[in-house]
Amino acid sequence: MNTMVDKVQQKEKMTELMSKFVSLVSYKLPDDVEGKLKELSEEEDNRLAKIIYKTMFENQKLASELKRPSCQDTGVLQFFVKCGEDFPLIGQLDRILKDSVYKSTQETPLRHNSVETFDEYNPGMNVGDGSPSIFWEIEENSDKVEIYTYMAGGGCTLPGVATVLMPGEGYEGVVKFVLDRMTSYGINACPPLLVGVGVGTSVETAALNSKKALMRSVDSQNENENAAKMEKLLEDGINAIGLGPQGLKGSKSVMGVNVVNTARHPSTIGVAVNTGCWSHRRGKITFDSSLNYEISTHAGAEL
Ligand code: SF4
Repeated sequence: MNTMVDKVQQKEKMTELMSKFVSLVSYKLPDDVEGKLKELSEEEDNRLAKIIYKTMFENQKLASELKRPSCQDTGVLQFFVKCGEDFPLIGQLDRILKDSVYKSTQETPLRHNSVETFDEYNPGMNVGDGSPSIFWEIEENSDKVEIYTYMAGGGCTLPGVATVLMPGEGYEGVVKFVLDRMTSYGINACPPLLVGVGVGTSVETAALNSKKALMRSVDSQNENENAAKMEKLLEDGINAIGLGPQGLKGSKSVMGVNVVNTARHPSTIGVAVNTGCWSHRRGKITFDSSLNYEISTHAGAEL
């Protein structure tokens, strides 16, 4: 009986903490993105681009002070979870994450972005059938849980694309696919962009990899030497388009290009591209089995 009471209390505690974390992610950009925007603004010599960066920083300052979302589109929530097999609330986590989105939607507040498909009904709760999206990995011999929380907006990473190339198209085909997308729909998201590229065996593995790529820090590099080389080549190529902040011209288009790759069938190369915008609202929180937490993306943040 006591164990059950304990579990209910722990569930309530984690829901409260996660709802506060979702709110934090909505109004405060992660440290790596803030740092990169500052760096890009200092390198920029286009006058209009400099003004736009200044406006972005003012926006960020006010969002933080007022604790209000830094962009009107608070997206749909996507969670990338790595859960230890011994984390005590593993069975309750789906419900905790859903409830935390609902709670944060009321308290922050967040825009109501979850519409039931075909019924075209918006319950106004930001949760729905299969929403928020939760992607799971289970870790052996661990009692912790790591949760990447991401606000995926309607202009940035929700309109991602994926395809499967024939093997003869090779990795040149991957580059062509990404550049074609960036030169046609890249501006759909507000630059400077974080471009996530996924490479795998099929559309769904490539698509998930491209989302995971957006969870990596803007300045990180793929551990595979060839994939890291592709990241650099794509970054240089997309920068050469000269989108600048908000797509109104400037010397840079991107904060970075991250590639995440997994093994493929010899006859296929799956590729996907997803773009994060300048207001790249993601955060990482880790809980131990007693629900002590650590936020690694927002230094000094407390819930
Ligand atoms: S692309 Fe990003 S900054 Fe632009 S409207 Fe969408 S969420 Fe906001």
